[in-house]
Amino acid sequence: MSLDDLPPLREALEAHGLFAKKSFGQHFLLDLNVTRKIARLAGPLEDRAVLEVGPGPGGLTRALLEAGGRVVAIEKDPRFLPLLDALAEAAQGRLTVINADALASDDAALLAAHAPGLPCRVVSNLPYNVGTVLLIKWLLGPLRPEAMALMFQKEVAQRICAGVREEAYGRLAVIAQAVCRARMVMDLPARAFTPPPKVDSAVVLLEPLAERPTDAVLAALEKVTAAAFGQRRKMLRSSLKPVGGEALCAAAGVDPQARAEEIPVAGFLALAACVSATASRPAGSGRSP
Ligand code: SAM
Repeated sequence: MSLDDLPPLREALEAHGLFAKKSFGQHFLLDLNVTRKIARLAGPLEDRAVLEVGPGPGGLTRALLEAGGRVVAIEKDPRFLPLLDALAEAAQGRLTVINADALASDDAALLAAHAPGLPCRVVSNLPYNVGTVLLIKWLLGPLRPEAMALMFQKEVAQRICAGVREEAYGRLAVIAQAVCRARMVMDLPARAFTPPPKVDSAVVLLEPLAERPTDAVLAALEKVTAAAFGQRRKMLRSSLKPVGGEALCAAAGVDPQARAEEIPVAGFLALAACVSATASRPAGSGRSP
């Protein structure tokens, strides 16, 4: 059987007696026109390793395979494995399905084992309950994808892509935009899913910036943004006290009277660079901010 001969997704679900479970965040895309569009938005997939979390019935997986990807798919719900095995057979060696929890998986190692030597892209209709945790893992961890096309609840997509002073601007936007260009590339109404979730969704395309901050600066950025946005109504001189307060702002050239929502990503990176430099300086070798 080839990919073209596979039964429609609804039939495949019925044939395997499968239904969506809320506990796994299951909302399926059963229209291949939609999943093909998402695969196109992810950019060229030919001769690429494609990491997909939560293939479920495999609608997006089919589109990723049709586009020429070498797909490594991590699915937590074992009920879908027989259906996905049939898809793997039709894909003739281009699909590896791993029954695991993606929160705990070592994705760089999985790709090195199952799609060695290929540049990678991450494309997923993410389970909503763990979407942002997975995003942070890919943004800050060792995986270095060429691009990520990820479906989130629309409100989360807005929080990833928001610009400074926008209502949705916060920690997620700063961390995502410190390493990637992030933009919403597709809106999807709730009715496009089976079963429909309570809210609309959107696909975010994340493309790495040419210059990536060091891991030490990114670790400091997590601390600085947690402090600043943890008390977002307070001035930075007060909210940033745990990481250096007014002296830190002065060292980084950031207005201590400003609030977190007024500081662009570059300002947060300047703060993080100062925190990281202070942490790496031997004790007694100079003033701390
Ligand atoms: N990709 C399919 C589609 O578009 O129709 C299903 C998407 S559904 C929103 C999310 C999928 O992620 C489900 O198949 C669910 O079982 C799986 N999932 C949920 N939590 C997971 C986890 N921690 N690790 C791996 N897969 C998970």
